[in-house]
Amino acid sequence: MRRRDLCSSTQSQALGVRTTTPAFTLNIPSEANHTEQPPAGLGARLQEAGVSILPRRGRPTSTLEKKKKPHLMAEDEPSGALLKPLVFRVDETTPAVVQSVLLERGWNKFDKQEQNAEDWNLYWRTPSFRMAEHNSVKPWQQLNHHPGTTKLTRKDCLAKHLKHMRRMYGTSLYQFIPLTFVMPSDYTKFVAEYFQERQMLGTKHSYWICKPAELSRGRGILIFSDFKDFIFDDMYIVQKYISNPLLIGRYKCDLRIYVCVTGFKPLTIYVYQEGLVRFATEKFDLSNLQNNYAHLTNSSINKSGASYEKIKEVIGHGCKWTLSRFFSYLRSWDVDDLLLWKKIHHMVILTILAIAPSVPFAANCFELFGFDILIDDNLKPWLLEVNYSPALTLDCSTDVLVKRKLVHDIIDLIYLNGLRNEGREASNATHGNSNIDAAKSDRGGLDAHDCLPYDSLSFTSRMYNEDDSVVEKAVSVRPEAAPASQLEGEMSGQDFHLSTREMPQSKPKLRSRHTPHKTLMPYASLFQSHSCKTKTSPCVLSDHGKAPDPQAGNFVLVFPFNEATLGASRNGLNVKRIIQELQKLMNKQHS
Ligand code: ADP
Repeated sequence: MRRRDLCSSTQSQALGVRTTTPAFTLNIPSEANHTEQPPAGLGARLQEAGVSILPRRGRPTSTLEKKKKPHLMAEDEPSGALLKPLVFRVDETTPAVVQSVLLERGWNKFDKQEQNAEDWNLYWRTPSFRMAEHNSVKPWQQLNHHPGTTKLTRKDCLAKHLKHMRRMYGTSLYQFIPLTFVMPSDYTKFVAEYFQERQMLGTKHSYWICKPAELSRGRGILIFSDFKDFIFDDMYIVQKYISNPLLIGRYKCDLRIYVCVTGFKPLTIYVYQEGLVRFATEKFDLSNLQNNYAHLTNSSINKSGASYEKIKEVIGHGCKWTLSRFFSYLRSWDVDDLLLWKKIHHMVILTILAIAPSVPFAANCFELFGFDILIDDNLKPWLLEVNYSPALTLDCSTDVLVKRKLVHDIIDLIYLNGLRNEGREASNATHGNSNIDAAKSDRGGLDAHDCLPYDSLSFTSRMYNEDDSVVEKAVSVRPEAAPASQLEGEMSGQDFHLSTREMPQSKPKLRSRHTPHKTLMPYASLFQSHSCKTKTSPCVLSDHGKAPDPQAGNFVLVFPFNEATLGASRNGLNVKRIIQELQKLMNKQHS
């Protein structure tokens, strides 16, 4: 088969939108072929052409399949080799953007009236799946949740797990979560802490936040300073209130960082380079703790506030920025945004390590987490919570910009990694990953920079490179991203407030501190940069098996981050070893 023929058909199927992940499955009807693999030669040629080959062991062809006109017929292949669109399954909880992105990519929606119960490739829904559903997943299927991950996403469980890690591996590593007490069990400890602090502070106030362990969207939250205002119920946590948040235009904000774990065994973590910054819509004011519009950054709260539509100082209209705009803003203040970003990556790894050993094995699934991170005015990041099924609703243009591409990139990522990590180890499935590589090669190789919505994100690629000499080889010099004119426009005529303690008197000089901008592919010492390669899959590492791909769209691999951690995540997770490596890395980077 000629590659060009197939690719052009693929593109037309995808309605000319994105063709990174081919939207086709090679379906070898079971009557014709009962093996996992297509005939020798066919697989290789189709994979080269960017077609995913998802085996369907012995499954009888459904009536619909027989009736349905194939989208593509491989012209020089044995009769019966049909190319069909991939099929997604949704329910009433599935975010609309997921469905629209998949349709845009040429996928078909699963119809249980018409199709065989197993005729789908991806099931995406908001709640978790039952273990029985995980156990019955087929080699060609993916689920958007991994079992056991709610240990991280309930606020009380998160606090307990991180406390355990602190005991095991030292407080210095795990001091990124504000001091937390789980009610009612920690009530006496909290009371003791509260009064001890009061004594120490004298007339100064201490601030606490009380949050329901299981609720989200800012519901049921209470901020207090005086003990008599403290009311709680079962399943609440009380946490030190970060009273010195980084303020922008005197508004509090927090970061929503998207993290995708494509496998726990072996552990594989990606961080999304774009994200959201969510603002409170009234100015931060510690003298009024009851004003949720000033103290909570949830958009579900702020979008109903009177100030939401107003043009606010520095932040403008609405209550969201993209992460890239936020980092551009920090850079304009000469803030070391790269160091902050590294700290966030470390925090993500350390948090996931807290549950990774106890997560049950499951094949063909992934988990998208939403990490909520608050930055204080010393630029220290604090983990507030980890969200399960982070909101994918499109409330504003910033949401559209970030979340649509996020879903596209998740699909790219799971078809690059998910189908060859746990899936392969567990079921010995033979899914290839070369579909993506071939698709990349069609575009002249994946150039990470092309995928980034903002050049300013390039800093995120400069991670974890231990061998500087190798790193230098992977450097590409690019112009500074957020054009000064754009930033200037955003900032003109406004005051700038970077700190709760001290506000600068003058407008910052806009400069390119990082010019020319260096971009390093992550782990250059370990993995070849994709942009340097066209078609081959990522390097195979000695006897540890294949290394995960370093990047898919805006997703960047943060774990494993070197050969030692790759080894320590195979054949059981050696958390102690991983922590040692991380500690070494942090010492090096922070020094
Ligand atoms: P929810 O799941 O209800 O969104 P969060 O823990 O994310 O709960 O808290 C909601 C908001 O409250 C956060 O987005 C942040 O603005 C604020 N917040 C939460 N915890 C703290 C804290 N410890 N210090 C300062 N602000 C906090």
